[in-house]
Amino acid sequence: MADKIKMITPLVEMDGDEMTRIIWKMIKDILLTPYIDLKTEYYDLGLEHREETDDQVTFDSAYATKKYGVAVKCATITPNADRVKEYHLKEMWKSPNGTIRAILDGTVFRTPIVVKGITPFISTWKKPITIARHAYGDVYKNTELQVPAGGKAELVVTDAQGNETRALIHDFDGAGITQGMHNTDASISSFARACFNYALDLKQDLWFATKDTISKKYDHRFKDIFREIFDAEYKEKFEAAGIEYFYTLIDDAVARVVRSDGGYIWACKNYDGDVMSDMVATAFGSLAMMTSVLVSPDGTYEYEAAHGTVQRHYYKHLKGEKTSTNSMATLFAWTGALRKRGELDNIPELMDFADKLEQASIQTIEDGVMTGDLYLLSSLPNKTKVDTEEFLREINNRLVKLL
Ligand code: NAP
Ligand code: MG
Repeated sequence: MADKIKMITPLVEMDGDEMTRIIWKMIKDILLTPYIDLKTEYYDLGLEHREETDDQVTFDSAYATKKYGVAVKCATITPNADRVKEYHLKEMWKSPNGTIRAILDGTVFRTPIVVKGITPFISTWKKPITIARHAYGDVYKNTELQVPAGGKAELVVTDAQGNETRALIHDFDGAGITQGMHNTDASISSFARACFNYALDLKQDLWFATKDTISKKYDHRFKDIFREIFDAEYKEKFEAAGIEYFYTLIDDAVARVVRSDGGYIWACKNYDGDVMSDMVATAFGSLAMMTSVLVSPDGTYEYEAAHGTVQRHYYKHLKGEKTSTNSMATLFAWTGALRKRGELDNIPELMDFADKLEQASIQTIEDGVMTGDLYLLSSLPNKTKVDTEEFLREINNRLVKLL
């Protein structure tokens, strides 16, 4: 066998919980370490170790990502009341993804893995659609009040000198409701840069949409910030890459998305991204095929699967039963991170390996060999359901031939 591929800078490796933690080790043992001198800085974000370190390990892993630039993350448990009991936690630790996102100040991009046999519910979609969701503010950080009959709702802004600006929201005859929300130029600008950078990375068009005709100050500010940053910093780069930045109204965007054949990035405000990412994921077929990457405006990347720790399968696994859990999204988190590391450190063999590993895994499913979730969806005439480990071994059989 040829020499293993050497790495220069370590990947930040964030291990996780339950079934995805089992898959994590299998991917490394079967598909990575036989071919790569894998260099990682390992952080154990499994819930036990978060508890032992009072969650410091999550913070450390995010700072390491800032330092090295590329991380790969396994799915992790976000503690709730049940988990506090199950794991005897001192505290209901915060969502690791939330902590990491806050430190990296990033935007999350979600892209489905498209394979033959799993047909999108929208028949025109041929290429993946990537959703970029702004993850700060708007209705997710709102303030709401109920208004009694005869009440008056106003918006009041007090500037640093104490001067007030007031605007009437509504004079209520009967009872009603009111809501205030905000965003910041800094957060919107970070979001815009993350989207423009990612579009250049993928060499795909970027679409952005708001409701600026109705929201003439709030949504219009998003539109203006995107336009100013594009014109000042990205216009020429987009021209050189042969890609476009396209702005339209959100309702027009929805209609165009449905009629399109895919192959672009759709930047969404927080609420639109929440709703549309579930719509796009479902329409493409399976959550287990959805990849996710957090990109910060200073160019750090954290790759992961969009799904969780697949708890139900893990409990079966603990009872010694066979599982058929789909490892595609976790595997693509690894290939995404390895390819990016190869790109940054100029290691063509590493990038080529990532391409071939993705090719082998797609080939496996297109040959009709798949896990139970896809077996239910696939329209291929000859298909076989395999268990979690067999699926990775089948990928390896094909990878060996490609290398
Ligand atoms: P989940 O892990 O995404 O799984 C929900 C269901 O979707 C599974 O029971 C399974 O359906 C199916 N599924 C998801 N991924 C699959 C895969 N790779 N292969 C096959 N089937 C798959 O969501 P959850 O069970 O609601 O959450 C479990 C834990 O994950 C929670 O503690 C949550 O906090 C955490 N979570 C973490 C992240 C993250 O780290 N990014 C994201 C979401 C949730 P069947 O059971 O019908 O086979
Ligand atoms: Mg949602």
